[in-house]
Amino acid sequence: MRCPNCQEQDTKVIDSRLLQDGDTVRRRRKCESCEHRFTTYEKTEQQLPILVKRDGRMETYSREKIKNGLFKASQKRPISATQIDDIIDELEGMMLQSGLKEFPTDRVGPYVISKLYELDHVAYVRFASFYWNFDTVDTFIKDLQNKTVIENQNRV
Ligand SMILES: [Zn+2]
Repeated sequence: MRCPNCQEQDTKVIDSRLLQDGDTVRRRRKCESCEHRFTTYEKTEQQLPILVKRDGRMETYSREKIKNGLFKASQKRPISATQIDDIIDELEGMMLQSGLKEFPTDRVGPYVISKLYELDHVAYVRFASFYWNFDTVDTFIKDLQNKTVIENQNRV
């Protein structure tokens, strides 16, 4: 790691700590030549899977694409950019945890939609309609409502 002060390549790690998110390491470094101390944050590089459509075509996963869809769906709705980022972080976490190298696009939409459902129903229906035809969305809403009814019954 190059020293930001004198550009010297030779820097020494004096402290290393794993942050709470579990995959970022914070390192205190000292330059051997000018004694300058600095901090680096290093993230483990995790490779997200390739998306596979139902017809077998492959598509590179794009965070931006999902984000644009979420922003569009959330227009004039009480959803913050942070909440959108959180949803995508959870989605990516789920994709990484699956261990799959090829991830079905069929699972991306419903996952995002179910997260959106917890936040805002209007945004959720809008987003769902980008992904599916309305019939499917309708069935999905009914499914969710049934689930909610069952959950409420269990709670009593
Ligand atoms: Zn230096």
